[in-house]
Amino acid sequence: MIPAETNGEKRVFLETFGFQMNESDSERILGLLKDINYVRTEEPAGADLIIINTCSVRDKAEQKVYSALGRYRGLKAENPGLIIGVSGCVAQQVGARLLKRVPYLDIVFGPQNIHKLKDLLDEVSLNRSRVAAVEQNASIDEGEYGYTEPGGSKAYVSIMRGCDNFCSYCIVPFTRGREVSRKSPEIIEEITRLAGAGVKEVILLGQNVNSYGTGGQGDISFTGLLKKVSKINGIKRIRFVTSHPKDISDELIYLFNDEPRLCRHLHLPVQSGSDGILKNMRRGYTASEYMSKVSLLKKLYPDMAITSDIIVGFPGETESDFEDTMRLIKEVRFDNIFSFMYSPRPDTKAAKFDGQLPLEVRSERLKVLQEAQREISIGRNRELLGRTVEVFIEGPSKADPSERYGRTSCNRIINFPAAGTESSLVSTGCIIDVTITEVFPNSLRGMVP
Ligand code: SAH
Ligand code: SF4
Repeated sequence: MIPAETNGEKRVFLETFGFQMNESDSERILGLLKDINYVRTEEPAGADLIIINTCSVRDKAEQKVYSALGRYRGLKAENPGLIIGVSGCVAQQVGARLLKRVPYLDIVFGPQNIHKLKDLLDEVSLNRSRVAAVEQNASIDEGEYGYTEPGGSKAYVSIMRGCDNFCSYCIVPFTRGREVSRKSPEIIEEITRLAGAGVKEVILLGQNVNSYGTGGQGDISFTGLLKKVSKINGIKRIRFVTSHPKDISDELIYLFNDEPRLCRHLHLPVQSGSDGILKNMRRGYTASEYMSKVSLLKKLYPDMAITSDIIVGFPGETESDFEDTMRLIKEVRFDNIFSFMYSPRPDTKAAKFDGQLPLEVRSERLKVLQEAQREISIGRNRELLGRTVEVFIEGPSKADPSERYGRTSCNRIINFPAAGTESSLVSTGCIIDVTITEVFPNSLRGMVP
């Protein structure tokens, strides 16, 4: 018999930059690798394979990858059998040039080529070649999906890929290609499999989930898909990101009323409060159109959390444009926002616009926006004090493992003591009532009543 430690298991160290879409790609990469006997390690030293999964939506993404790769150069010198790969948006954007620039890099593969990873690894280890796979595919090969490796009781599931909106600042349509929806039966099959493996919460992912089904192989509408997902046994909570304000339908808005498993949270990025800037961003709505959707949501669902993305310092943004944005966040009172300084991205139209603003102006506006939002977020959290809410337990608290942390339906993180409560009620994946006793800007504290 082969001893356990030499049973052919190989170790992969995977580093992820970016946000949910990249986390989801990483889960797919790990799922694929598991099939060929790789286990994840938290230590790059001693790994057989290192993958950096990248994001290029903001900042100096390419630079960040070079410095990350620099950290692994020594490991490759010590162990020439080590395979190093770069995946994600930077891989797609820079392509084979990355191989030229980094001589110890073996594989470059874009987000539409994850399903080829096993073949790419074979090519490297059997033929000692260095390979780049960055072709854009017009349709979805189901092999690309369906491998999601559940990281616990919740899982991200991509329902579509790419984007056709071409907002003038955004690199996504260039790195992730045209919008294509997956076929609904395959999505349902994947979620059913995940539910069988213990997943209780799914987060459906797409750059613009509201237009699911209108492109590629989509066969039903987004609301049709949500209704089907909510019937899957074992799935207790459903979330989705990102909703585009121009495409959110009344049908979806009213579905929250009928479907208790849909979490009371909508991430609805507004980007700016100025009509002129929204037009130059090519967002397809005005500030007042956005406000009327938000007013309807707030009227129908007072307990719903609404969050947003905002870009400050877009080319040509005047003080008065910025004030429009400040006014909008104060009027909506978002539960939280992700806010960014505009950063010019290669290939995008806005990178060539007149009126690019200096860094000091962009960072000062970001500071002013974030300070105002911090107060609003604390205020919104305070409104929850004393309320008893359902919490989906995600695991032991990081700071004190005798406590638990979880998420409210409105997507707030909450910590609470678990001692004294029957352990079967406070294990990961359970939903339990918790009374909110204290609030902070980014989390809550509570107790089991
Ligand atoms: N599809 C989603 C967003 C994807 S990118 C949507 O349309 O809302 C996530 C966020 O990154 C965007 O909402 C935007 O706020 C920010 N972002 C994208 N490109 C950016 C850029 N060039 N500079 C600064 N922020 C940017
Ligand atoms: Fe980018 Fe706009 Fe598409 Fe969102 S909708 S991914 S911001 S192009």
